[in-house]
Amino acid sequence: MSRTAPAPSPSIVWFRDDLRITDHPALRAAMEAGPTFALYVLDEESPGIRPLGGAARWWLHHALAELRRALESIGVPLVLRRGPAAAVVPAAAAEAGAGSLFWNRRYGGGERRADAAVKQIARSSGLRAESFQASLLHEPWELTNRQGGPYKVFTPFWKELSSHDFRHPLPAPEPQQVPERVPRGDGLEQWGLLPGDPDWSAPLAEAWAPGPGTALRLLEEFADDSLADYSEDRERPGRPGTSRLSPYLRWGHVSPFEVWDAIGRRRREAPGGSAAFASELGWREFAWHQLYHHPDLAAVNLRREFDAYPWWSSEDGGDQAELLERWRCGRTGFPLVDAGQRELWSTGWMHNRVRMVSASLLVKNLGIDWRLGEQWFWDTLVDADPASNPFNWQWAAGCGADASPFFRIFNPLTQEKAHDPDGEYTRRWIPELGSPDYPEACVDLKESREEALDAFRSLPKGRP
Ligand code: FAD
Repeated sequence: MSRTAPAPSPSIVWFRDDLRITDHPALRAAMEAGPTFALYVLDEESPGIRPLGGAARWWLHHALAELRRALESIGVPLVLRRGPAAAVVPAAAAEAGAGSLFWNRRYGGGERRADAAVKQIARSSGLRAESFQASLLHEPWELTNRQGGPYKVFTPFWKELSSHDFRHPLPAPEPQQVPERVPRGDGLEQWGLLPGDPDWSAPLAEAWAPGPGTALRLLEEFADDSLADYSEDRERPGRPGTSRLSPYLRWGHVSPFEVWDAIGRRRREAPGGSAAFASELGWREFAWHQLYHHPDLAAVNLRREFDAYPWWSSEDGGDQAELLERWRCGRTGFPLVDAGQRELWSTGWMHNRVRMVSASLLVKNLGIDWRLGEQWFWDTLVDADPASNPFNWQWAAGCGADASPFFRIFNPLTQEKAHDPDGEYTRRWIPELGSPDYPEACVDLKESREEALDAFRSLPKGRP
């Protein structure tokens, strides 16, 4: 009589904002524990998890298709499920008879609550459940100021953070045998992540190739070719002077440890560029640390005295609704801002300098609530992330952590002269520039500046 041994319990690696196979501690731990399958859950139901915007959904579709290919190459099938994580993950584990569950940590409030619930349910049903650090260089609860609270100012935060040594990135795991029991999943097409009619995604597909393969190539190319000139070129939206890694970092196609390592290897050849670039990674960390400590970052002014600022909001009605629309579609009459807004609508990305100028015009000259701008970016950016987006909007509005002082109101015309002196950028995005088809400026810069400063001066002082 022949007796076959029962199939070993598979391990699960639960993928979230870490869609890669290199430098993935949870994937390695799962594969060390035995045959592994990967799970991705589209969770639009757990409280406090922000539903993805349109451009992000487009990115996610292609990213999952690429991740599936990468995982297949190491013997790990990818299972897609939809629903609240606290119900879906334990159910998939039970169906597969899984013995262990691994994931890399997330830092948003709703995400942390969902993860804690999954961990508790998993452990109470006898599953080994473990989480790892992979998406930030430093855990937010470990890096605090002298009083034990979060850093409020970037410079001391960065000084402290960058004085640490970080681990070396981990290679992709060796291929192994596919597990015998893999639960059924949804088809990617069933999720309807791609736009239907109208399909606005063609320029996105021209601009980007989501997935970990492109991310690592882009990182190496940038580090070899552009890092040396980064300090200077990063302020020129008409030039390819920045890395364009933001969506790849946002979706975790590349880890911050991999970026840190690649930059560190060029420190000798490009000392200025590496230091400037590393500190941008520092801003990303700073934004995530703020979100960890303030889970309502997208809704509530960090400086509460700004609660009294008379920003216009949609329910107020009036002319501002039209101004908001002109800003969204790049018809404000200020070329740098309009070029940026059109770049965003077309490609799902906008240069950082232009994001700052565009945000300043909206919240200061047009007097529109920063939350409306933040929501527009959330819907249209391929790199929209729950920390960097609200953090930077609060920075631009003057109400955030280490924010741009309110009285520093960018003049979009002066900014254009300084950062796009030859008009390379504005002409690329505004073909009708200089013709009667291009609109007049939608606001008087001087008057609106004075009004904003008056409103700022009238805020109550000293509220923590
Ligand atoms: P690089 O100059 O090559 O920088 C390298 C990396 O550093 C970036 O990929 C990014 O991960 C990080 N980084 C750079 N600047 C910042 C910053 N100010 N804050 C946080 N991280 C930074 N970035 C996002 O990733 N997601 C967002 O949703 C987002 N929303 C923004 C909204 C506003 C109003 C503003 C002013 C900025 C926003 N940023 C956001 C930050 C920044 O504009 C983008 O990260 C940057 O333009 C990405 O281009 P890059 O990868 O070529 O940058």
